[in-house]
Amino acid sequence: MPEPSEANEPNESAGPNAPNDRAEAAGTLRISRVLDRCGVLGPGWRAVIWVQGCPLRCRGCLAEETLPFSGGELRPVAELADWLAELPDIEGVTLSGGEPFGQAGALAELLDAARARRPGLSAMAYSGFRLEALRRGTLAQRALLDRLDLLVDGPYVEARHGDLLWRGSDNQRLLPLSDRYADIAERADTSAGIEVSVGAGGTFSWAGVPTAPGFRAGLENRLGQLGYAVRPLNEARSVAGGADRSEREVDEERAETEGTP
Ligand code: SF4
Repeated sequence: MPEPSEANEPNESAGPNAPNDRAEAAGTLRISRVLDRCGVLGPGWRAVIWVQGCPLRCRGCLAEETLPFSGGELRPVAELADWLAELPDIEGVTLSGGEPFGQAGALAELLDAARARRPGLSAMAYSGFRLEALRRGTLAQRALLDRLDLLVDGPYVEARHGDLLWRGSDNQRLLPLSDRYADIAERADTSAGIEVSVGAGGTFSWAGVPTAPGFRAGLENRLGQLGYAVRPLNEARSVAGGADRSEREVDEERAETEGTP
């Protein structure tokens, strides 16, 4: 497994610019986890891929274990494409994280390979960066944008948490990037809820966007009190390092992007 090069280190001073595209070994993607079937992270039933690594540190991030770029596991793009092509009864795939645009080239490659076998597969992605910043990004980041039907953009801002469709805070936009979901604004803008999965080995996981901040900590506290072992988050925090992203930084970003078509 190659160590990330210095040139690939996230640029914390990049402000609203798109993240560096961290190319892993050719044809591989560093992921945190996948889910075969989910009904609360995008339209219809969807596979979900949580990529590993994010350069941002939004206060209250729900996926702290996905933040270190050195974590997760490397998976061949071809293997993930086979998985997507063969899953029964899904409408599309949602790319979450972590920061999907930190591995844009591999994800664009994955969508092409999966759609070669499953042409109707729709694609949605989350990004902590604004669409306008991503459009100024690398060729690979623009290639990924070209392959998406829906984008949720912008960082999570805990103080602006709301009961919103597929988003955590009201600064985040749900943007159709193709005709596939052009009518998305007509849907009720309220939370799609939380889904709980129990794996074959008895592992418990959940997906979705809670309607209130603090959901994860509260859930894990309650599970701990009931005697369930919950993987502590402090390991992810100490590896991730970095400072919380302030509302001022988010406001600066908003000021830059508001009014941009
Ligand atoms: S953009 Fe923010 S909320 Fe999303 S994974 Fe990165 S730190 Fe967490």
